[in-house]
Amino acid sequence: MKLVKLIANLGYGSRREVAWMFREGRITDADGEVLYADDQVPHARIRLDGEPLDPPPGLVLLMHKPLGATCSRRDPGRVVYDLLPPRYRRREPALSTVGRLDRDTSGLLLVTDDGALLHRIISPRARVEKVYEATLAEDLRGHEGELFASGTLMLESETTPLLPARLRVLGPRHARLVLTEGRYHQVRRMFAAAGNRVETLRRVAIGRLTLEGLQPGAWRVLAPGEVEAVF
Ligand code: URA
Repeated sequence: MKLVKLIANLGYGSRREVAWMFREGRITDADGEVLYADDQVPHARIRLDGEPLDPPPGLVLLMHKPLGATCSRRDPGRVVYDLLPPRYRRREPALSTVGRLDRDTSGLLLVTDDGALLHRIISPRARVEKVYEATLAEDLRGHEGELFASGTLMLESETTPLLPARLRVLGPRHARLVLTEGRYHQVRRMFAAAGNRVETLRRVAIGRLTLEGLQPGAWRVLAPGEVEAVF
């Protein structure tokens, strides 16, 4: 791919703006040699104003979604993409969240431009484990673990029962729930079906990926191979 297109697709500017960056000598190789738009240079050796470029397509970000942000692009309020540098919103191919977390749910969110990977993770057939921690309005009654593990729990307006889910009680009103699918408001609706109400909800892991070291609102690029910890 031509360097102008490659850099424009990373969101640094329109092709015209990037062409100007070349003319101004702002784009160099790792040794500081000025590059020209027709040069053939590996992505890792390109510098813009002396800085390495953002990662190429195939990007996976691990984000600690804060409360109050939505995963929808069209929401007029705060969206998770606002947590990223503005150029990330202009990347081609575009970034999407891998599934969604509600506005009132915090925790681990993956964001990627890799459509095949996205579908591989969210496919119910992949049985990827998503781990949630919930605090509840009422004390647990003791029947929830069996109910959620049964594989027969049918939520309102659904046509198929939920896949079995594992519950671990962490306190009288505090539980960890492991799901292998991602239906709309699933955790809240499961506890509602058990006669309770979720007060706070956080996703703490997807597969073996955790939020370790990431404060709410922070994110990091997954290293190549790290994404395999999802499966
Ligand atoms: N279940 C919910 O109820 N909400 C989420 O955001 C994720 C799972």
